[in-house]
Amino acid sequence: MALIIDGKKIAAEIKNELISDVQKLKVKNITPKLALLIVGDDPASHIYVRNKEKLCNEIGAASLVLKKEETTTENEVLEIIKEWNNAPDIHGILVQLPLPKHINESKILLSINPSKDVDGFHPENVGRLVAGLPTFVPCTPLGIYELLKRYEIDLKGKHCVVVGRSNIVGKPVANLLVQKAPNANAIVTVCHTAAPSMSYYTKQADIIIAAVGVPEIIKGDDVKEGVVVIDVGINRISADNEKGYKIVGDVAYDEVAKKAFAITPVPGGVGPMTIAMLLTNTVLSANRQIG
Ligand code: NAP
Repeated sequence: MALIIDGKKIAAEIKNELISDVQKLKVKNITPKLALLIVGDDPASHIYVRNKEKLCNEIGAASLVLKKEETTTENEVLEIIKEWNNAPDIHGILVQLPLPKHINESKILLSINPSKDVDGFHPENVGRLVAGLPTFVPCTPLGIYELLKRYEIDLKGKHCVVVGRSNIVGKPVANLLVQKAPNANAIVTVCHTAAPSMSYYTKQADIIIAAVGVPEIIKGDDVKEGVVVIDVGINRISADNEKGYKIVGDVAYDEVAKKAFAITPVPGGVGPMTIAMLLTNTVLSANRQIG
C-alpha cells in the first residue's frame, strides 16, 4: 500500500514553525498582520475567511477582517485596498474570491500592492514566479511543493504531469516545479480538456498533480506503478450517510493507492496546507519588510 502524504501533520508542523517565527518578529516589534476582505454572503467564503482568521490568532499574528455587503461597489473595494496598501502595519492583503459579479476581479487583484499580495495572484508576482525570481507563490502550489519537499520526493529529472491549468493551481504549480531550483527541476507536462487522452499523459507520469475538479476522474488504469500522486481536488458527491454527501478528490483513491508509491488523501492532503501557506507568505512579507 502507498505511503500516505499527510497534509494535516505537515500543516501542524508548519503552524509550530510559524509560532516561533512570529515570536522572533515580535522581539523586533513587528507583528505580522493579514487583512482580509470579504464581499457578499457566500457561506463557503465566510467559512474560509473564519479559518484564515483563526490560524492568524493561533500563531500570534494579527488579522483584520472586513465584511462588506453584496452591494459594495468596485470603487469602494478599490478604496479599501488603497488604504491597506498604504498601511505600514499590514503585511498581507487577501480579497476572498469569488467577488460579486458587478466587481471586476482582475482589476481588484491588480490594485493590490505586489509586496503585500500574499495570495500570489498579482501579474507581477506571477511573472516573477515564471522568471524564477523571489515572489509570493500562490498558496496551494506552495503547499504542494512543501509536501513533496518534506516527504523527500525527488523531482529532479522526473516527469511530472499536472492535470488542470487554472491560474490558482495548475499553471503556478507547473511553473514552480519546472524551475531549475532545489526540490524542483522536474520535466513538466500540463494537461487540460484539449488533450485527446488524459490517460496517455498520466500513464507516463512519475508524479501526478491532479487539479481538475472532476470527482475521481483519474483511475487505477490511468497511472503507472510507483507513481506519486498529489490530489488537489475537493469534490462533493452524494453519499449514503447522515450529511447525504462526502468529499472526494480528483483521483479514485482506493484504486490508485494500490499502484502508487505515495499519495495524498482527500480530505487531509493538500487542503490543510493551503491556509498554512497563506500565513507562511504573510510572515515572509513581514520579514521582507525588515530586510
Ligand atoms: P478550475 O479552474 O475549474 O480548472 C480545472 C482545470 O481542469 C481546467 O484547466 C480544465 O481544463 C481541466 N480539466 C477539467 N476537466 C478535464 C478533463 N476531463 N481532462 C483534462 N483536464 C480537465 O479548477 P481549480 O480552481 O484549479 O481547482 C481544481 C480542483 O482543486 C477543484 O476540485 C477545487 O475545488 C480544488 N482546489 C483545492 C484547493 C485546496 O486547497 N486543496 C485549492 C484550490 C482548488 P480547461 O482549462 O481546458 O477547461
